[in-house]
Formats: sequence, structure tokens, C-alpha cells
Amino acid sequence: MALLLAATAVAAAEQALRPGGVALVDIGAAGERLPEVRFDGRAVLVFVEDGRYVAAVGLSLDTNPGQLQGLTVDEKSVPLKVEAHAYREQRLTVKNREHVNPSASTLERIREERKEIDSALTAFREVSVQRPRVLLPVEGRRSSSFGLRRFFNGEPRSPHKGMDIAAVTGTPVRVPAAGIITATGDYFFNGNTVILDHGQGFVSLYCHLSSIDVELGDAVEVGDILGKVGATGRVTGAHLHFATYLNGTAVDPALLLEDR
Ligand SMILES: [Zn+2]
Repeated sequence: MALLLAATAVAAAEQALRPGGVALVDIGAAGERLPEVRFDGRAVLVFVEDGRYVAAVGLSLDTNPGQLQGLTVDEKSVPLKVEAHAYREQRLTVKNREHVNPSASTLERIREERKEIDSALTAFREVSVQRPRVLLPVEGRRSSSFGLRRFFNGEPRSPHKGMDIAAVTGTPVRVPAAGIITATGDYFFNGNTVILDHGQGFVSLYCHLSSIDVELGDAVEVGDILGKVGATGRVTGAHLHFATYLNGTAVDPALLLEDR
């Protein structure tokens, strides 16, 4: 069947067709029925702007550059072209060896925590949403660390899926976009953690907190304090690890910042 839809760039300056980026795709005039949009089988966020439906598709850091076929609108394929992007390398020394090569019992704990975290990060809550946007959750030096290819004590680990913001322990972390708290816990790698669901698969994550000031199920508004900056979990110093997800995929939070 002929493609009736083109992967038209919407507000091209704000999308990034690269691994870890966001594609904004105009999928037609906003009408009574919201089209069903999926990417690699996962439900995709759709917002309305200027009378148009726009899909915000999270592109995984491990995407191979080139033409992607995974996007469907009402089961029709919409091609997306993803460009290569060179993320930098980062080599870290972690003193606590358990944080580099965890023991068998710790691995079991990590697996259980992973399930809980993944379930919150991949949730899709069907509410109407606006264009995904965030404010900076803390004042502080913002590193451009998203996507770094990391080595701990010389051993390759998964790429860095968030933005690190340096701030002293105890600095309040403010809710950068309204939502519902869907996970809190003290996790092995992430330390004290909060996960915040903004609707339609737009989810944000806050790690290494010294304290958590919200509870599971809380509805929070922009500016509320969700916790305090700390150095819990696998860290080399006090900072906030701030990550944003679309369709279960980590995307660069800098792309969603209102004051960027
Ligand atoms: Zn981090």
C-alpha cells in the first residue's frame, strides 16, 4: 500500500533524528479519533499542536543509523531516517569493587530491582498530554553526559542514559513536569530513586538522592520538591542523575528542556 504519510519534521529545531534523540512526526489533522502510533511495537506519545497530531518517538541509543521501519500509524509503516552521532567515551574509577563486579546475591537483588524499574519506565498511561517538556530539576552545573560510552575500572558498561547535574547534597530536586510517582526505592546502582510518569510513556527518573520526599501514587506539580540531591548508589560524588524516557527508551533530557 502506498504511504500516505510522510515523516515530516515538525519544529525541526527541536527534534534530533539520532540515537538517543526524539523524532517529532506530523501524523495528520487532529480529529475525533486519535491514530494508534507504535514504534517497534510500543505505544508512542501523541500530542496536539496547531490542530495537528504529532508523534514524539524516542530513538534508542543503540539504534543503527539509517532508514528505520519500526514506526507505524494505524498499522501503516512510516519511514524514519536516523543520522549517526558520535558520543564521547568516559573512563571512571569506581572504588567499591562490588559496584563493578557484583556478587551472585547482589546480582539477584539487581535483577529484582531492574524489573521494578523497567516496569515503571515502560508504563503507558492513557491521558491527553502536551508536547513533552521539562524544566531543570536542580540548579547546578549541567554536564552534557548523555550517551557517554562508559568504562568502569577499564571494563565496558552500558552507555550513560541520563544527564548528570552536579549539586551539593541536600539541594532540593524539583518536579520539572507534572505527573504521578510510579516508583520509589533504594536501588543498588541508582541509590535512592524516584520515577515520575507524565503520561503516554513520557517518564522521568531521578537517582542518587539523599532523601525522597514523595510517595508512590502521589500526583505532583511543577516546582514540588520530590527529594534532595545525594550520593547514594554507584557514584563518584554528589549529583542528580536525571533521565527522560519516551516509549520506554532513554532520550537526551537536553532535547526536552524548556530553557535549553
Ligand atoms: Zn548519571
